[in-house]
This record gives sequence, C-alpha cells and structure tokens, in this order.
Amino acid sequence: MTGAPVRNASLDLIGNTPLVLLEGPSEAAGCEIWGKCEFANPGASVKDRAALWIIRDAEERGELRPGGTIVEGTAGNTGIGIALVANALGYRTVIVMPDNQSREKMDTLRALRAELVLVPPTKFANPGHFVHTSRRLAEETEGAVWANQFDNTANRKAHIESTAEELWAQMEGRIDGFTCAAGTGGTIAGVGMGLKAHDEKITVALTDPHGAALYNYYANGELRAEGSSVAEGIGQGRITANLEGAPIDTQFRISDEEGLVWVRRLLAEEGLCLGLSSGINVAGAIELGRKLGPGSRIATILCDTGFRYLSSLYNPQWLEAKGLPVFPWLEGKDG
Ligand code: PMP
Repeated sequence: MTGAPVRNASLDLIGNTPLVLLEGPSEAAGCEIWGKCEFANPGASVKDRAALWIIRDAEERGELRPGGTIVEGTAGNTGIGIALVANALGYRTVIVMPDNQSREKMDTLRALRAELVLVPPTKFANPGHFVHTSRRLAEETEGAVWANQFDNTANRKAHIESTAEELWAQMEGRIDGFTCAAGTGGTIAGVGMGLKAHDEKITVALTDPHGAALYNYYANGELRAEGSSVAEGIGQGRITANLEGAPIDTQFRISDEEGLVWVRRLLAEEGLCLGLSSGINVAGAIELGRKLGPGSRIATILCDTGFRYLSSLYNPQWLEAKGLPVFPWLEGKDG
C-alpha cells in the first residue's frame, strides 16, 4: 500500500487510523462490529490525539511558547503521546508518575526523552499525589504548562474534531451505535458528541470495567464503584470536565475475563495484538449490537497495542498471580 508522503512525522501521522470489521465479534453479536485501530497512531494509542490537541490548544492560547515545557501526571499512554508530539515541536516533557508503575513504562518514557519525576503512590486527597505534584511542578517551572488531561476539554475536542469525523466518513454515515470505556472520558464524550451532531439517533453507550463508578452513575445517578479490574487506562471514579454533558444513552459493565476472551480471540483469529481496554470495548460493542439488533452497525475503539503489556497480559506468571486465564499458546497448548 502506498500513501502520500508525510512531512511532520509524529504530528501528521496522528489520526486517520483504519477502521476494520471484526469478524468474530460481528458473528457473536449478529450484526456488524467495527474497530477503530488507534494502536496505529505513532505512540501506539488513542492518547496521541489528546496529546496533540492539548499541546496545540496551549500554543493557541499563548501559554506554550518555543522551548517551553509540558508537564503531566500520567504513567501511560498520554505521557508517550505528549513526549512524541513535544519532541516534534521542540518542547521538553516532564512526566510525574507513582514509583510503583512498571519498569517498562518508565523505560519507555525515558527512551522517548521525557524527564521522569517519581513520587510515592498515595490517595488523590493527598497533596503529594502525582496529579497534584504535576500541577505544582508546572506552576513552579518557568515556561511550563500543565496538560491536565482529565479536566482539560481540549482532550475531548480531539475526538469531536477527528475521531468522530473519521468514523462518520469511514462508516459512510451508516452507524447505529458507538461504545467505549472511559479513563479521562475524552474519547466517549468527544466521539459521542461528534457523532450525535451528525445524527442524534446514534446510540452512545458507556462500557465500564469493574471497579469504576460510571456504570452506576449513568444507570442510577450514584457514583459508586464495585469490584476491581487490572485494565490500565480505564475506570473512572468521578465526572471529569471531559465527561460533563457526555451524551450517554445506555451503559454496560464488562469484567476483565470477558475482555480477555476478546483480547485472546482477536489475536488468535484476526491477528490483532491489543491491550485489555480494547477487549473490554469489543465485549461492550457486542452487548450494544445485541441490544440494537440484527442489521445494526456498531463502532468501538481498539485503544492501544498489546506490545505494551508483554510483562503483564501476555505473561503466564502475571496472569496466574492475578487469577486470570492464561492464553493457551503461552502454556504450549493450541489456542
Ligand atoms: N485505553 C487505554 C489503554 C488508555 O490508556 C486510555 C486513556 N486513559 C483509555 C483507554 C481511555 O481513553 P480516555 O482517556 O479518552 O477516556
């Protein structure tokens, strides 16, 4: 396959990701389930879009000037996206993260030229929490801005202006439902708003992991979490600024085991190596497809690459320690 040459490396490669028909999930749902390949972004996750929009917004507001610094509290995909975009635009990146995060993540961020500040893990109410520490560091650093992905709505704007528009075009305006899980909520809120602006009849569903409070909030107005999940990047306990006004019509709760079934099947049967939030999203999309019935066309997000989880999701000892099923081929069996 050939395409137009790209001028600005990371920047111009963000977005315009492929949309694929997922065969096993479509068969399970009895309708079409489509997956937006966000692992195809340069930083291998959906968060590259938020990183680019947050940085461009800070530039437009005049807060970020040449040679400036972007500070964020995150251990994961957002930090990776920010570091890549910052390198492409000539900014420094400072990432504050709890010191109990995986070695892989620290190594990745350092490899991408981010400066890491490690803090002890603590409750959100504690001023030493990594989010508060990142805000303070940004305030104290000359020429720095705080990305603030949870409450900076440039995050969801990325999905209103890019992800939703791409989905609408790729599905040729024939889309009945959209669902995904929420971390900051930028994706579900932004894609939901963007799609509803085209057609308000599109059903927008939240797919919540266990251990998050949003399922109950949208079902009965109560922010209450039950259970737990090992999925990274999703599971929210409050209504962030990005989630305010999100047009959620219905909601599903999906377990790690259900999500892992689809991580395993999409890898073994369709050649897609994904993280657990993608598997949970696909399980949610199947629920939505069953609800909307045969003939419906559903889209969801394949959030990030499984290569980021080789020491966890794809590691038999790790899975066993968490009480989760091990993929058969990791134990030398046919899968
Ligand atoms: N999946 C993964 C792997 C993520 O890192 C994130 C980002 N936190 C999400 C899903 C959820 O995206 P959002 O922050 O837009 O809700």
